Amino acid sequence: MAHHGQDLGGAPGPLGFDREEERLVAMAALPSLFCVLVNPKDLTGNEDLDTRYQEVADKVRKDDKRSCRGIKNLDAAITANTGERQATGFVVAANDTTLRVLTCAHVIDDIFTVDNHNQFNLEEVNALFRFDVHCYHHEVNVRTRLINQKISERLRFPTQTRVIALDTQKDLMVLEFDVGYLCDRDETDVGGARTWCEAMHPVIHRADADPSKMQKMVLAGWPPQRAGSCAIGQVSFCHWTYDAITAVNFKGYTMRLLEIPGMVADNGFSGAPVLNGAGQYVGVFHGVFNLSTGYAICSQDVRDFLQEHNVLVWEPNDAEEA
Ligand SMILES: [Zn+2]
Repeated sequence: MAHHGQDLGGAPGPLGFDREEERLVAMAALPSLFCVLVNPKDLTGNEDLDTRYQEVADKVRKDDKRSCRGIKNLDAAITANTGERQATGFVVAANDTTLRVLTCAHVIDDIFTVDNHNQFNLEEVNALFRFDVHCYHHEVNVRTRLINQKISERLRFPTQTRVIALDTQKDLMVLEFDVGYLCDRDETDVGGARTWCEAMHPVIHRADADPSKMQKMVLAGWPPQRAGSCAIGQVSFCHWTYDAITAVNFKGYTMRLLEIPGMVADNGFSGAPVLNGAGQYVGVFHGVFNLSTGYAICSQDVRDFLQEHNVLVWEPNDAEEA
């Protein structure tokens, strides 16, 4: 499939309307976006967890294979071209020292399948996987470095995070990390210095109201090597249940979906914010079905998830701990 995400500097897309407003919305979101990379950890020394992981992963593989009946596992493509699991995340809460970034849970879809959710608690999920992020400012510095190396092969200096909220049935996950550990520029490979990012990473707020039919939306995401990509579409429905869209719900997802025909984007867009003209998010991107229609986790389900896990609330001693 061709790359449908529009580069922000590129020509107008297929819809034919003026792109300036959409471009501004996507540009404004960039400092709030994070590249999320997920890697399984080495479980040497933690044999019990390793055994349980192997059991669950085996069950998931069998179930995915059986349920798909030959249809390619949509989520398997998440590692395309990078060998890594990559998603987009965006800031939903911040205090002076800490950022909380919302993304999708299907980057760890090897530990859940229909009727097999919540097999591991948060501590175990953090022991099973390493969750790294880096910000847009760092990516720009990496890309503009004057070194003789392909952009895709240049090293990024990641910040390790931990999962603080997870709902695999709704495909949502929140990562938390200390903002002081975000790298801005890293030239240690040539004997230089490493500096830390002092730029703003503003919270993207949720829109209070659901979008109306045919309202234009902008998806601002970070597919592999293409930070600052976007896709555009117009809303058709706000609250589809998963089974109304596809018979292939082999993961047992329960969230309702915002349907945006024409919003076609690669897998690295998963977890990206679907933004209205005011730059507020109305959904979290989940994936593309039928090759031409994008689906996002609906705003109300995101709100319920964030409330249930107290993601937008800071305990008084959070700042002191960090
Ligand atoms: Zn930054």
